[in-house]
Amino acid sequence: MKKKRILIIEDEESIAELEKDYLEMNGFLVDIETDGSRGLEKSRDDLYDLYILDLMLPGIDGFSICQSIREHSDKPVLIVSAKKDDIDKIKGLGLGADDYVTKPFSPGELVARVRAHLGRYETLTGKKEENHMVEIRGLKIDKTARRVYVDEEEKILTTKEFDLLTFLAENPNHVYSKDELFRKIWGMDSVGEIATVTVHIKKIREKIEKDNSNPQYIETIWGVGYRFKI
Ligand code: CA
Repeated sequence: MKKKRILIIEDEESIAELEKDYLEMNGFLVDIETDGSRGLEKSRDDLYDLYILDLMLPGIDGFSICQSIREHSDKPVLIVSAKKDDIDKIKGLGLGADDYVTKPFSPGELVARVRAHLGRYETLTGKKEENHMVEIRGLKIDKTARRVYVDEEEKILTTKEFDLLTFLAENPNHVYSKDELFRKIWGMDSVGEIATVTVHIKKIREKIEKDNSNPQYIETIWGVGYRFKI
């Protein structure tokens, strides 16, 4: 998954660095701009997935930056300010910020809000990046190349084995009956037996499991079906 890029526009360097450290620890890419005008300039690149904006800045203030971002982008904007009044003002001006955090705040809280807004943005815009790689405990499925690796060693699967494994791996922790799997992978109109599913699961296990009697990936739920372990 591509890392999300965040722009922090904040003139108090200690605060900016603290935010950056926490966000980076949580897997985000972070740039800091301590000057309003330069921050505004950077925000125009449309390179960022989310903006964290202080209000009182040298150069151009956060109000104007927020307004300018909204003219070209609907990416989440989080306002961080020491003054409750400023937050009321920005709400009053209807500048379209997505969230407000008052200083001092806990970095953990900020990270949680960043995550929530990125998630909400992706859901709203349907811009959730399709993940072409499924990776679980040494098992790697490359959906684009339709290749499967276990501990970096390629395993050759047939088309239906690949489809079945990928379907289960992308919907982990959910029990599917043989009947459901047959309909999903082979299609409603397919001629065949539900036992085909059992045969394919067995073949997949022979290829990807170290010990077939104790499968690490696809579990058999007796009397119900199969479940991909996470
Ligand atoms: Ca400031």
